[in-house]
Amino acid sequence: MKPFTVKQFIFRLLRPVPMPVIAIMIGLLTGLAVWAALDQVQGRMISKIANNELNTQLKLRSSESLVRFDRYLSNYAATTRLLANHRRLAEYLDPLVWLPDEPFEPLIYRDTPPPWLPDIFARYELPAPSHILLLDGTGAVREIYQNRGAPLPADLANEIRSQLTRPDGVRTLVVPVGGKPYLVIGDLIEDSEGFPMGSLVLAVPIDADFLTASQQVVWPERIVVALVAGDNQRIVASVDPKTLPVGTNLEIWRHDYLITSQPIAQQDAAEWDLRFATFLSQASVDRMTRHMRAFEWRQRGITAVVFIFVFTLLIYLVSARLNKVLKRMSRFAHRALGIAQPGFQRGSNQLLLLEDWIQQFTQLVLKARQEMSRRYEHEMRETEALKAAIMEASLDSVVTIDGRGRIIEFNATAAQALGLRRERDIGRAFAAGSVTATDRILFNGLLDDSRRARHEGREPHVHGEIAAVRHDGKAMPVELSIVPIDVDEGTFYTLYMHDITERLEAEREIKSLARIANESPNPILRVGAGQIVFANRASRPLLRAWGIDVGGRLPAQWTAEVDEALAEGATREHETLIGGQVYALLFTPIRELGYVNIYGRDITAVRRAEQEARQHQGELVHVCRLSTLGEVATGMAHELNQPLSAIVNFANGASRRIQGGSVDPQQLIQAMTQITTQAERASEIIRRLRALVAKQPPIRSEADLNYLVREVCSFVEFDADRLDVAIVLETAPGRIPVNVDLVQIEQVLLNLVRNALDALADLPATERRIRIRTRVNTDEADVEIEDNGPGIEPTQMNRLFEPFYTTKESGMGMGLPISRTILDDHDGRIWAESRPGVGTIFHVILPIIATPQEPADSGT
Ligand code: ADP
Repeated sequence: MKPFTVKQFIFRLLRPVPMPVIAIMIGLLTGLAVWAALDQVQGRMISKIANNELNTQLKLRSSESLVRFDRYLSNYAATTRLLANHRRLAEYLDPLVWLPDEPFEPLIYRDTPPPWLPDIFARYELPAPSHILLLDGTGAVREIYQNRGAPLPADLANEIRSQLTRPDGVRTLVVPVGGKPYLVIGDLIEDSEGFPMGSLVLAVPIDADFLTASQQVVWPERIVVALVAGDNQRIVASVDPKTLPVGTNLEIWRHDYLITSQPIAQQDAAEWDLRFATFLSQASVDRMTRHMRAFEWRQRGITAVVFIFVFTLLIYLVSARLNKVLKRMSRFAHRALGIAQPGFQRGSNQLLLLEDWIQQFTQLVLKARQEMSRRYEHEMRETEALKAAIMEASLDSVVTIDGRGRIIEFNATAAQALGLRRERDIGRAFAAGSVTATDRILFNGLLDDSRRARHEGREPHVHGEIAAVRHDGKAMPVELSIVPIDVDEGTFYTLYMHDITERLEAEREIKSLARIANESPNPILRVGAGQIVFANRASRPLLRAWGIDVGGRLPAQWTAEVDEALAEGATREHETLIGGQVYALLFTPIRELGYVNIYGRDITAVRRAEQEARQHQGELVHVCRLSTLGEVATGMAHELNQPLSAIVNFANGASRRIQGGSVDPQQLIQAMTQITTQAERASEIIRRLRALVAKQPPIRSEADLNYLVREVCSFVEFDADRLDVAIVLETAPGRIPVNVDLVQIEQVLLNLVRNALDALADLPATERRIRIRTRVNTDEADVEIEDNGPGIEPTQMNRLFEPFYTTKESGMGMGLPISRTILDDHDGRIWAESRPGVGTIFHVILPIIATPQEPADSGT
């Protein structure tokens, strides 16, 4: 097994992980990384900014504190001025006289405030001073108010004496008293008269209360203010002595506090270097920084979360898009390359799948390309071999020539047909040896055409017909195709020559055949798509009569005929009278070409001859009938005799009775009725006879074949009686409707019955029998006339229907041939079957008219 690279290993691990999960993972990691990087940079920056900001703020605040402190001191100075100039003090001083040399004891107020001191401090919310002194002009303390009970410290007294015993007497000082700072303010005093008395001095210890009151503000942060001695950096007053005890060195607090110090505005001639310091505890700095950091962390957290969300969403969208692309590609691949669907599932890693799939796809394409090029080469080789084989096997002569017309190669057919020999003819000019002198210019022209067409970018394959020189030196017409081929050496030309000797002969043959139609004395036309495409010379009378020419349209009647002939695919024939001539038109369809050939024939003469023949035949039939009737007439006359005799008898009887006087009218009427009946019978017999004798044109009418048969039987009744022949009649039930010439069909039947009677003449009277039967077979009627006469010898059977064939002394031999002609005219048939010594049956077949059958009615 191949060892995995780390990348492959990671890919394997990631393969089943869905894209959204990876998106979230990447989003998280990136978010964290961004967050951490920001933390590194921003944390430091923020601390720096916070410190700077804090320092600035602190400086600002300490300046503000100092300003407040200074203003507070000024307030004291103002209050001192107010006290010094107060009316109550002036009035108090009015009666007093302080003599410089006079010994005195300073007046001390301990518990009660002096009368000259108004209650002013509480009103201005200033801490009351510890001591308020009245000094005389020499600076000696005359009165002293010990506000807090304590006597005036000696140091303070000295400081006041040294600092304030000056003529102006107005000063504001901060002086150290036992290491503690005191605010000392002096102002001049006068009595009501404006007499200067000395000065008023206030002494206020600057302690925690003082400092707190001076600030009048509660800092949100724990800011502590203190006064520090400039020389030794010790704290001399503190707003919070518990935290920052007085007396401690400033330096020891530097670790826990952020400290700023500024010099207090210099007092007049003050020797004490005091500084105003503000302390901000490191803990509160840290807390503030922590707050800021926490806030910044939160911001950064939100940024990271947003980052993760956006990133995840982005990757998710990309992955969804990839899914789609992958699906589409997979479907495409499935259809186009037939490769299986890559393992695409919703829960797997589409990106990696896509990569895999693209790799697979690329390999497939590469493989397909290799396969195609392999196949192409193979096919090329095969094609080359095939081409060579085809060329060799071609029945056409193939010769390749170079640009100058010299033979380079040729196939076996060319060698044989043109008598080319490799050792002799390769390199020889083709036209000189293998094209007839007359066609060389034509050949060179064709070659030039091909060259020019190629040059001009047209189809360079050129065709033509020339005469090549055959192996035996004779000219051979060929169809020539010139196909140029590009090779390294330039352009070669392949000449394909197809021997068209046979084709030209066939064409000549066809042309000569085509002349036949033209030369035919009968009209020949060809119709395609209703138009006359060809008409020979003989069809001019037809075209004239139709009023058209070649290319014109046939009259509608014949167009329909042409269409039907094409549709049926069968030949049709029609007669037409054109210009007094009768033409038979034969429509012969050629379905595969969509043509119909019309062959016309002038049949005027034929029809005329037929007409004449028919006339002759009619006459013949009539003559024949008369001859038959001659025989019948004897019987008829006898038959006629009967009613006539009966009439005579009845008439004689009637006249006898009238003459005898015994006239019974009833009997007379009876006799008259008999006479009438007999007369009608005679009249009927005569009518029939006349009908048969009369020469009348053939008329077709509908008749009942059974009726005709019965009537014929009645004609021969007398002869039959005479000969003692029993005629048995068996008719088919109902009518047998036929469309016939009544007289002619009766003539046929009469002839047959008469022949049967003749045949029975030599038989003993008791044995003579004729049976006449009618039958219906689908659409035909069959009349059988059967006798039990001597029959007909088989050798004679064929001759029966020949004219003038007879075995009778008085016979004409025309009965049967005329009967056949009549039946042919009626689309019927007649034939005989006979067994010598047994009898003969004649059959007469006639087509039936299709009419509804009537109810059964059989007769015998
Ligand atoms: P004809 O009756 O004038 O001879 P036909 O044409 O009617 O002329 O008959 C031709 C011949 O056919 C008859 O002479 C006879 O020899 C033969 N023939 C016709 N009918 C019969 C029949 N029923 N039996 C025997 N011979 C017959």
